[in-house]
Amino acid sequence: MTEPTVYPPLSTLSTGIRCRCPRCGEGPLLKGYLTIRESCPACGLDYGFAEPADGPAFFVMSGVGVVGMIAFMAFEFTVHPPVWVHLLITFPLIAALCMGVLRPFKGWLVAEQYVHKAAPPEWASIGKHGEGSKWR
Ligand SMILES: [Zn+2]
Repeated sequence: MTEPTVYPPLSTLSTGIRCRCPRCGEGPLLKGYLTIRESCPACGLDYGFAEPADGPAFFVMSGVGVVGMIAFMAFEFTVHPPVWVHLLITFPLIAALCMGVLRPFKGWLVAEQYVHKAAPPEWASIGKHGEGSKWR
């Protein structure tokens, strides 16, 4: 009889940024750029719980947007480059920053979902319509 493997708790930041399995820290979390795998190839953890939806995109877009606009305005007001410089350098740099941050941020959110045992909401009925209230 084999005993179930016990996994020590891992840092969500460490596993998330490396896009690794939140349980074992070894298997990859994503296939391709942002697609979550079915399960961990190393420990077999079912990634069905992982559903960060638009969370990573929203937070990355907001954070990089603020930092990017501050950098953009500092560059514009101190150097005064021609507009083509912004089109060729500044805007692609902001887009590349978003793309670079998105993967590790998604990994971190999935790791947080695993640690906090996130699940879809379940609703319980408290009665049928028309019952429970005497007022009609
Ligand atoms: Zn794993």
